[in-house]
Amino acid sequence: MNPLLEIQFRVPFDKIEAAHVEPAIDQLLTDANARLEATIASERPLHALDTMTEKLDYAMGVVRHLESVATTPDLRAAHNAIEPKVSAFYSSLPLNEGLWKAIQRYAATDEAKALTGTMKRYLTKTIDSFKRHGAELDAAGKARLQQIDVALAEATTKFSENVLDSTNSFDLVIEDEAALRGLPPAAIAAARASAESKGRSGWRFTLQAPSYLAVMTYLEDRDVREQLYRTFSTRATAAGPGGAAHDNAPLVVKILGLRKEKAQLLGFRDFSDFVLDDRMAHTGARAQGFLEDLRHKTEPRFHEENQELESFAGMKLDPWDIGYWAEKQRAKLYDFDEEALRPYFPLDHVVNGMFDIFGRVLGIRVTEESGVPAWDSQVKTYAVHDRASAAYLGSFYADWFPRENKRGGAWMDSLITGNPVVAKPHLGLICGNLTPPVDGKPALLTHREVETIFHEFGHLLHHLLSRVEVRSLAGTSVAWDFVELPSQIMENWCWEREPLDLFARHWETGASIPDDLFQKMWRAKTFRGANTQMRQIGFGYMDLALHREWDGSGDVIAWSRAVLQQFSPAPFPPEHAMLASFTHLFSSPVGYGAGYYSYKWAEVLDADAFTRFKKEGVFSASTGSEYRDKILARGDSEDPAVLYRSFMGRDPDPNALLIRAGLVR
Ligand SMILES: [Zn+2]
Repeated sequence: MNPLLEIQFRVPFDKIEAAHVEPAIDQLLTDANARLEATIASERPLHALDTMTEKLDYAMGVVRHLESVATTPDLRAAHNAIEPKVSAFYSSLPLNEGLWKAIQRYAATDEAKALTGTMKRYLTKTIDSFKRHGAELDAAGKARLQQIDVALAEATTKFSENVLDSTNSFDLVIEDEAALRGLPPAAIAAARASAESKGRSGWRFTLQAPSYLAVMTYLEDRDVREQLYRTFSTRATAAGPGGAAHDNAPLVVKILGLRKEKAQLLGFRDFSDFVLDDRMAHTGARAQGFLEDLRHKTEPRFHEENQELESFAGMKLDPWDIGYWAEKQRAKLYDFDEEALRPYFPLDHVVNGMFDIFGRVLGIRVTEESGVPAWDSQVKTYAVHDRASAAYLGSFYADWFPRENKRGGAWMDSLITGNPVVAKPHLGLICGNLTPPVDGKPALLTHREVETIFHEFGHLLHHLLSRVEVRSLAGTSVAWDFVELPSQIMENWCWEREPLDLFARHWETGASIPDDLFQKMWRAKTFRGANTQMRQIGFGYMDLALHREWDGSGDVIAWSRAVLQQFSPAPFPPEHAMLASFTHLFSSPVGYGAGYYSYKWAEVLDADAFTRFKKEGVFSASTGSEYRDKILARGDSEDPAVLYRSFMGRDPDPNALLIRAGLVR
């Protein structure tokens, strides 16, 4: 039997092959079409709608996941073959006149009018969604909209492939040990292991994050830093690694054009207004105004920081100097070397400590499971239970280390959305590209990597602790400018003494972080805080500017470079093309497109919400229980502004963010 055809809580990852993909998806599409007809004929189409595509969602979730973590040429080909038809099917649903009429018919019934709570919200959102998807367009408009969605799916898939292929098509092998001066031992060992894995002598560096960032932060050899920076910032361009075969510039133009056409077809001014219509920010102008405000509050300190760095370095700095000199300046000012923390963050302690902390705070118990099939031998599986009732809430996979067949970054995903009404558990996953173990030592992480784990675990808990009975409104299916609250708030626990003492233990001695090191870590936290903030504001601003202001003519790479330059500490080289590898914006039809601002938006929420834990106790089970019940458990069953107020008793206060970034004292 084809293992993708039935929803299996124990996903048979050991049995799924590329050859299963096309026949399974074809059959599930047929099945979904039959269910669609049944839904249209149903007396209660809203209820049927919520589970109509569950099998197809599951199979596609598994296939997309495998394409992200264990890709092969066959799997990629199968994925690319089905993606357009699946995308066409999904985008045809809110255009289906029969379904639209059935929902309208139902909306007019006494039952629908009497709906309350989550079901009422589901009905309203469903009707809005039909309208936003063109339910009120004429036949020609509907046909064009469907073409646009299919074209967007293809172009954005190709965009991410180009980034992955271009990134992988470059490496730099250094043969002379003296040329490694400045690099910490962990980075040298990783580079040696990387060369060895290719059967080569010397030390191998790549454009993958751990390797690239180590070079940019520590390597004394300025020419190598420059070479790597220039190569990294031209990924997926004609002049970049891999060459014209992976050029994303034409795809960016195509994607932006299609998005604008779609928004205007649906009666919106531009893509940002279309996307933000059902988010907390509501319009592109409001989001851009939010960033403008933060920019003005950040700019004075930003300029000061940059002047301080140049006087420290005693030279005019290029972009490939910034990270290097900033690290030197930090070490000098704070006598603090980030690498000194690594021995305190062995992956296993960090992960188990994290489970322990949020076990206490949120009233859950996380335990490792064995014998569960996965896509790679490095993957671990865990079960989550409620502490008080012992109820089984769900399971998740954890896949921490980089591989060549895995995409970069860190993320969580859901595979199965449970239902509290029938005690159906959730299934999710968490993936990263963390520093792997070398030289027989455990994997020793940077503090930033620790934050990343906590962050993704927050997303995962939003999914696993959901108590929403409507699948479409459960877990992380919330407005994009709200979805980062549950993840970003977790990072705060990586900065408090008591939780750190639980999990940050020296891998050899078991000692906790010495107090002076802890103090330095705190002082260094706000070091160049305005630059960190400005960088995020810049990405968000460039994103909104592209989707609101770019007129579609001329060189989009040059245009976006000029916008981003205003937020950057040093002048970019003329070939700089960060946009071409900006997967957040272009690797899916919507993704973070016109939504990058939401990181900052959510930071305002998380900095502010954490002030309650700070005041009432970072291990406070009563505050944690309220947070779990009022935010994590609620998904999108209520307006996020209402959920936020129910936890905090008031609207968010942006000041907490400015204080945390060290911009207000
Ligand atoms: Zn996130």
